[in-house]
Amino acid sequence: MSRPVTLPRGLVWLRSDLRLNDNSALYQASVQCKEVAAVFIACPDTWQSQDEGNPLVTFRIACLRELQDGLEERNIPLYFVEVPTFAQVPGVLQQIVERLNINALYANAEYPLNELRRDNAVKDLLTNEGVQVQFYSDRTLLPPGAVRTGGGEPYKVFTPFKRALIQLCADSEVKTLPKPRKISTRENEAHWRKWLSLSEGQKLSQKIPTQLSTYSIDKIDDAGLIKGWQAGEKAALKRLKKFGGKISAYQAERDFPALDSTSCLSPYLNSGAVSIRQCIAMALDMNEGRWLGGDDGAACWISELIWREFYTHLLVDFPRLSKGRPFKQETDQIPWSYNKDQFERWTLGETGVPIVDAAMRQLNETAWMHNRLRMIVASFLSKNMLIDWRWGERYFMQRLIDADFASNNGGWQWTASTGTDAAPYFRVFNPYSQSQRFDPNGDFIRKFVPELKELSDKAIHDPPPTQGYPQVICDVGAGRKRAIEVFANLK
Ligand code: FAD
Repeated sequence: MSRPVTLPRGLVWLRSDLRLNDNSALYQASVQCKEVAAVFIACPDTWQSQDEGNPLVTFRIACLRELQDGLEERNIPLYFVEVPTFAQVPGVLQQIVERLNINALYANAEYPLNELRRDNAVKDLLTNEGVQVQFYSDRTLLPPGAVRTGGGEPYKVFTPFKRALIQLCADSEVKTLPKPRKISTRENEAHWRKWLSLSEGQKLSQKIPTQLSTYSIDKIDDAGLIKGWQAGEKAALKRLKKFGGKISAYQAERDFPALDSTSCLSPYLNSGAVSIRQCIAMALDMNEGRWLGGDDGAACWISELIWREFYTHLLVDFPRLSKGRPFKQETDQIPWSYNKDQFERWTLGETGVPIVDAAMRQLNETAWMHNRLRMIVASFLSKNMLIDWRWGERYFMQRLIDADFASNNGGWQWTASTGTDAAPYFRVFNPYSQSQRFDPNGDFIRKFVPELKELSDKAIHDPPPTQGYPQVICDVGAGRKRAIEVFANLK
């Protein structure tokens, strides 16, 4: 458990863990240190190079702003500093640590390769300076590497991974941590409440900006919404509670994009406004403590959360996933298409296949897309159009408010049959039958493709030539056949 207060001064380095409750690094700093401050380091050039888009960054900054108020109430000042890239982070932290006389740095681990390298550099530098550096496993239920086959190997297939993870977790309660301890004002005030000038051009400020120097942050509307999304921990917990009330219907309804039946918690999980433990604990609560069986909806939701866990663990075991490489290396031989015009039509939702277009327009308008539709559009791009899945992966990263490297890469590679646990390559989603099955009345299509709204429920899935709506971009059946052939010919 937590150690008693032994250290004079701790610094919490916040990243994708923007919450007060159940935050391992923040909580541990508050119980181990007499005085605590927090810092957030924006790295817009690195974020851009990693295709982190405006919706994601805007949401992140808005979550941070809300968190600052909560930290303030606990007398933990939050500082903000902007540097261009991850490369400057160790140096900046070194300066902060020196200026503020910090004894220990606390952070929650992040797993994509660039983040791991950044964190190792920070650890090396600060440890040399005599600072205790502690990274906590907080983003996943179990630390990557903890779920292993009998032979000590990582799992490459989801179902046995899930079984093994549940076996490891099921005997102990999923515990969540309280908010950090309230720090006594007297201890803190004199030391922290000031601006600090670091090296030239870098300011440590308590003001969180509305604009980063090289990033354009999306507009937050008068109601405080980012493309319809309310940022922050309070909104996350409210959503979690609301979803708990309808979790039983999840399994039956989750594949129908016209229904509001999934949790829509992904932006909050990825920015860290809610924790994986809080989500699992709620689902277990609704399912009398059972991970499997019991309430179909709750058990199914737990399983979906374990997909997120699976893809995050894979990043650590297979660093090539962070380098733009396929999990199945032989799929590098596929003669992918790089047709920019066709790709652009896909991005704009102008392929002439209504369910694909409705989905892409949902993404462009709301910065989110329903899971069933993510699979349909990814399959359409990578199989029917045979366009390199990495182009689609990149577009999703840039547009999604819930963009998460592990889940996005995992989802794209799964659908393109280049990844782990890939659906057999010859199983290609048929966008028309998917549309008839999961949007039977065309309600979802009508919402996002108004050009088709007068068509009948039957005609809307594969429309006749319609004024203002494009002709289909490719021969869907021939594209499917070609994809199966190129995969079959892989050596
Ligand atoms: P719910 O159905 O309520 O599920 C609860 C949570 O479980 C989600 O919030 C998410 O954290 C997790 N989850 C559910 N399904 C999956 C899955 N298949 N893989 C991993 N985690 C899952 N998810 C992201 O969070 N970020 C991404 O960038 C992302 N990109 C994707 C790209 C493709 C091509 C595909 C096929 C899937 C992608 N997913 C991604 C997974 C999934 O589509 C979303 O997590 C889900 O749609 C989010 O909606 P929700 O919160 O309502 O999910």
